[in-house]
Amino acid sequence: MIVVMSPQATHEQTELASALLRDNGLTPVPAKAADSALLISEGTGTPELTASIERSAGVERVVLVSGAQRLTSRDFHPENTQVTVGGRDGVTVGGTEFLVIAGPCAVEGPQQMTTVVDVVTAARAGMLRGGAFKPRTSPYSFQGLGVAGLALLAEQRGRTGLPVVTEVVAPADVERVAEESDMLQIGTRNMQNFDLLREAGASGRPVLLKRGMAATIEEWLLAAEYLMQMGNSDVVLCERGIRSFERSTRFTLDLSAVAEAKRRTHLPVIVDPSHSTGQPHLVGPMSLAAAACGADGLLIDVHTNARGALCDGAQALDAAQFTDLMDRLEPVVEAVGRMLAQPRSLAQV
Ligand code: PEP
Ligand code: MN
Repeated sequence: MIVVMSPQATHEQTELASALLRDNGLTPVPAKAADSALLISEGTGTPELTASIERSAGVERVVLVSGAQRLTSRDFHPENTQVTVGGRDGVTVGGTEFLVIAGPCAVEGPQQMTTVVDVVTAARAGMLRGGAFKPRTSPYSFQGLGVAGLALLAEQRGRTGLPVVTEVVAPADVERVAEESDMLQIGTRNMQNFDLLREAGASGRPVLLKRGMAATIEEWLLAAEYLMQMGNSDVVLCERGIRSFERSTRFTLDLSAVAEAKRRTHLPVIVDPSHSTGQPHLVGPMSLAAAACGADGLLIDVHTNARGALCDGAQALDAAQFTDLMDRLEPVVEAVGRMLAQPRSLAQV
């Protein structure tokens, strides 16, 4: 059950509604959505309880939700959520536009960033990616430039007008990363780092939530609940491949999860064909398939010197491959009634 208090409800009215739920054996958890306080419980109680909560002062509505999801469910929010990244001049994902986010796996230095960003901008990507804090499987691998990497990303945003997304791995870094980027990425390895999710949810920035490599769709959506519970409805899900017995691809891209997640939730869903397949020749076909099956966008690794890349060079597209992919993607995007997203600051000119 979700109890939505009216924006004008007083703290006392919320407390009274909460007490009524507790008196009836439920354990309400406080949450927020836009201007309203929410009370969320795992159970639903009786129809009589619903009726008396609905009559309580300050209560706007009661939503009964089936299954484990609450705020992410279409019962709570039937229409597609559109997430705007980068403010008024930024891009929107989840509507009619199809958002391509591209850039290197890791920010390596000013020259590398300028070269890659020039390529993806010329090919009409709508947003930039680049990791400054890298969650590497081995502690001996390049761990990212950290704060210096954030500054290089911000420089590219200033130069191009494209919003940037970058990963945050520690709750203590959320504030800093939120200040210097437009969107926080939570990686596959941290999908169930609940302290990190709460902190990112409270940051006020949109969040890109990757699916855990061994997470079910339900676990992924419940991780998104942690973000939304903090009052953040700007959440974009990213399917990035799951572990299977198959070794010829890095992970197994689960495109059925895109259609299924979109059925169960109003949140936008994008696809990462780079980390999932691990191979440039599979990135193109999977990108086209993602657009065709209803994904709202893509997250693609691009590097102009893959051999020298400090992280995940083997899966990156080079300049020609990315440009060619964007050309082939556009008609598929148009065939499903959408158009490539561009920041509003650039679309005007
Ligand atoms: C990434 O996008 O840089 C990344 C590390 O992805 P994932 O968390 O999906 O492995
Ligand atoms: Mn990577």
